[in-house]
Amino acid sequence: MLKDIILKLYNNNDLSDDELKLLIETDDLQAGELLRSLADEVRQKYYGKDVYLRGLIEISSFCKNDCLYCGIRRSNNNAQRYRLSHEQIMSCCENGYQLGFRTFVMQGGEDSFFTDDYLCAIIEEIKSKFPDCAVTLSLGERSEESYRRLKNAGADRYLLRHEAADNALYEKLHPSELSLENRKNCLFTLKKLGYQTGAGFMVGAPFQTTENIISDLRFLQKLQPEMIGIGPFVPHHDTPFHSEKQGSTQLTLRLLSILRLMFPKVLLPATTALGTVDPLGREKGLAAGCNVVMPNLSPVAVRKKYELYDNKICTGEEAAECRGCLERRVSSAGYNIVSKRGDNVDFNN
Ligand code: SAM
Repeated sequence: MLKDIILKLYNNNDLSDDELKLLIETDDLQAGELLRSLADEVRQKYYGKDVYLRGLIEISSFCKNDCLYCGIRRSNNNAQRYRLSHEQIMSCCENGYQLGFRTFVMQGGEDSFFTDDYLCAIIEEIKSKFPDCAVTLSLGERSEESYRRLKNAGADRYLLRHEAADNALYEKLHPSELSLENRKNCLFTLKKLGYQTGAGFMVGAPFQTTENIISDLRFLQKLQPEMIGIGPFVPHHDTPFHSEKQGSTQLTLRLLSILRLMFPKVLLPATTALGTVDPLGREKGLAAGCNVVMPNLSPVAVRKKYELYDNKICTGEEAAECRGCLERRVSSAGYNIVSKRGDNVDFNN
């Protein structure tokens, strides 16, 4: 039964909600291994054994939002706030370029200091100094006009997890001034503007049910993003969810494999959160269908201040050490880090 469902998915057939539920909830080890190996096969069909590097530059820990799960939410008075200057961001890129990075991801809280003018100047400088690199932004919800200006300045990709496609769950995770409708609109706008677009959600978020996860998968089918970011929810001690359970490694891995079969060509990162809940989480993620890793390029002095959740890994090492460590981890899993932009295969054509 489960084997048939997995083969149906592998053969590009849509599953019913009941079939997805069985697959998501199973603890059958044999079925799990079949799912994983087919996901790996599909990943190798489109991306070989290549693993793309994304240099993550965490540009600001200021945030005007108050998401209940997030350590840098505005009402966390214990959060340490910082923002990187234009020069600091450029020096992260210079360092990253020397280390073989060909994508830079600027991520941060929603910080009004980073106006369109300010960001466009940085993006233009990165693109002129490193024309063979891609620029990814992950700066939350902005206006269509803002997304357009950033795209025209040279930004290639945008990561904006939808967080929860079910309205009732979205409202339990966010304050009332944020809406799922706007989040989804932003994602469709990003697609329309020609960004390689990333959506995604946390696995094991408080109150999340299997039905909620199925809604997430259905939303992703509508959006057809080029990238999907999922990682386990990890509690942060200074948030309302401090005592909630963290998301499971097993469920995250199973969902990564399901995503690889549902979206064969998607760019799928083995996230830092997965490496936080399991010391070998990222290696297991690669074996389950992931093809992207996102080492940190932020200056070590600010790393601990971008504390989205407790016990976040890689907050003490220099970028070069992180790069070396990941190189070893990726090759121990049987894959190779490549020094390429790493676009979605469909975007190359
Ligand atoms: N402000 C931007 C945004 O809203 O997309 C980007 C930064 S936001 C902090 C990046 C991602 O961190 C979120 O999309 C969320 O899924 C993830 N995140 C936040 N708190 C987390 C937690 N406690 N556990 C796991 N992931 C978390």
